[in-house]
Amino acid sequence: MRKPVIAGNWKMYKLLNEAVDTALALKPVVANANHCDVVIAPVFTALKNVSSRLEGSNVKVAAQDCAAEAKHGAHTGEIAADMIKDAGCSHVIIGHSERRQHYGETDASVNAKTKSAIQAGLIAIVCVGETLDQREAGSADDVVKSQIIKGLDGLTVADTERIIIAYEPVWAIGTGKTATPEQAQEMHGVIRQTVAEAHGNEVAERVRILYGGSVKPDNIVELMSQEDVDGALVGGASLEAESFAKIVNYR
Ligand code: PEP
Repeated sequence: MRKPVIAGNWKMYKLLNEAVDTALALKPVVANANHCDVVIAPVFTALKNVSSRLEGSNVKVAAQDCAAEAKHGAHTGEIAADMIKDAGCSHVIIGHSERRQHYGETDASVNAKTKSAIQAGLIAIVCVGETLDQREAGSADDVVKSQIIKGLDGLTVADTERIIIAYEPVWAIGTGKTATPEQAQEMHGVIRQTVAEAHGNEVAERVRILYGGSVKPDNIVELMSQEDVDGALVGGASLEAESFAKIVNYR
């Protein structure tokens, strides 16, 4: 049985006090959610404060990116994975489509960052997903397969215990257009099969695959009813404690 994960990506929203207030509002309303892992990803500057205030709760904290380099050094503006761990995080999002589209993230950098995150003892939430053009051209499966193969290249079986995959079709992120549960299931099946071919059946059966793209309180139940959907990565609807709690408490 794969334990679901419901993760909230706060993107570049919320000043420090706003992030702490939202985290504190969330804590009691998801306190009984034993059916899933609950994760929130505030901006870097709020990580330490938010994680301190959530200590002892069931809400875990993620960063939204980390450096590819594991070794501390002359990398101005970068933040190493062990620094993120040091700030109280257990997870880190890697390869979000906004970073792939606007900040030069590649499959190679996703791979390096994933390895650094695992080495630091973090769980890497590795994001993949096709653009609308790629879907319309009929290449969505190939694009996502390639992102998975390259992004997870060289990971040992032990490493794979520390990864979560998030399938986020780019055309569904922040657009209000959600993939249908069938579309999500189909791609999650392709992803699991790709992981099986690259890393073996046991790894594929164990790895959790989240869906992301306009997940809301009113579509989470249908999405979670799909066999290979093991949770959600939520953007907009995670910014308010009330709506995120409704998604977490989908059952
Ligand atoms: C995201 O940022 O990962 C995301 C899925 O955003 P939204 O839920 O707003 O589409």
